[in-house]
Amino acid sequence: RYRTLSEEAGLPAVTLDGAEVGLWGNIEFVDEAAACLKWGAAGVGLYRTEFLYLRSIAPPTEEEQFEAYAEAVRSLQGRPIVIRTLDLGADKLSPHLGGGVEANPALGLRSLRFSLRRPELFRTQLRALLRASALGDVRVLLPLVTTLDELRRARAVLGEVAAELRAEGRPLREALPVGIMVEVPASALMADRFAKEVDFFSIGTNDLIQYTLAVDRTNETVADLYSAADPAVLRLIARVVEAAAARGIPCGVCGSMGGELLYTTFLLGLGVRELSMPPHQLPEVRRLIRGVRLDRAREVAAEALRLDTAGEVVALLESALLPMI
Ligand code: PEP
Ligand code: MG
Repeated sequence: RYRTLSEEAGLPAVTLDGAEVGLWGNIEFVDEAAACLKWGAAGVGLYRTEFLYLRSIAPPTEEEQFEAYAEAVRSLQGRPIVIRTLDLGADKLSPHLGGGVEANPALGLRSLRFSLRRPELFRTQLRALLRASALGDVRVLLPLVTTLDELRRARAVLGEVAAELRAEGRPLREALPVGIMVEVPASALMADRFAKEVDFFSIGTNDLIQYTLAVDRTNETVADLYSAADPAVLRLIARVVEAAAARGIPCGVCGSMGGELLYTTFLLGLGVRELSMPPHQLPEVRRLIRGVRLDRAREVAAEALRLDTAGEVVALLESALLPMI
C-alpha cells in the first residue's frame, strides 16, 4: 500500500543498502519543536537563539533564556538539541544591540565576534544554556568561527561560566558537546585543525556559499551568482567532511543545502550522515534517502567534484535525482 509522507515520518531514514542518516530539525522558536517531533526528527540540529533577542527591546534575561531552552529540551522528550549561541548581525539585525553602522555588515562585528566583544551578553546566554544542559541532551554550537584563536577564546569563556555555575552548586551536563558551524572558507580550509578541538561540525552552507563566492546572500541583484552547486563550494564541503571523518567526529549539514533534494545524494556520497533542515522538509528528504544506494551516491559525488561549473553540477544532480522522484 502507498504510504503518505506523514505515515513515513516514523520510518528510519536509511538507504537501500542500510546506511542510517540522522534527520534533524532547524528551529527558530521553541514551539517549532513540536513540528520536529511530528515529522520524525531525531532531534533539533540547529536552534537559532537570536530570535529571542530580535523580538524585544532589551536583551532577554538569563531566566527568560533558560525558560526558552528548558521548554525546548522538555518538548523534545529526550531527543538531542543543538543550541547555537548568538548569531546576530548581517542578515539578522537587532536595532537595539548593534554597534555602529557598518559598510560591510556581513564582514563586520557579527555572530561569535559580537559575543566575544560583549562578554556580559555572551556569559548570560552561556549561563542559561549550561543550566538547561542539566535537563537533557543539550549540545552547544558556535557560529561563524573563523580562527582557532576565536574558538579557544569562546571555549575559555564557556569553561569559566561552567566553573561559576558549579561553584553555585547548580547542576550541569558533564562533558557538554561543543561544535562549530563551518561556514566561512577559513574554517573549512583549517577543518583538520578544528576537528582536533571540537566534538562535531555543522556545515552552514548559507554563509559558506556567501563567503566562498563573495555573493551577499540577501542581495537580489546577485542572486543568480549564489549557488550551492559551485565547484568551489563543493570542494570546501568535501574537505570538511573528510577532515571530520579522519578525526572520527560527526559532521552534519544545517544550511539550506541540507534540506534540498537536489543535493541529498551528493552529500550522502561524500559521507555526510546528518542533515538538519526546517521540519516540513524532513518527509521528502527521508523518502529520497530510502531510495538511495550508497555506491551510486558515491559515484555521483565523485563525478560532481570533477566538474568545472555550477551549471554542469546542477545538470548532473538533476539527472541523478529524476529517476528517484
Ligand atoms: C548557514 O549559514 O548555513 C546557517 C545554517 O546559519 P544561518 O542561515 O542562520 O546563518
Ligand atoms: Mg550562518
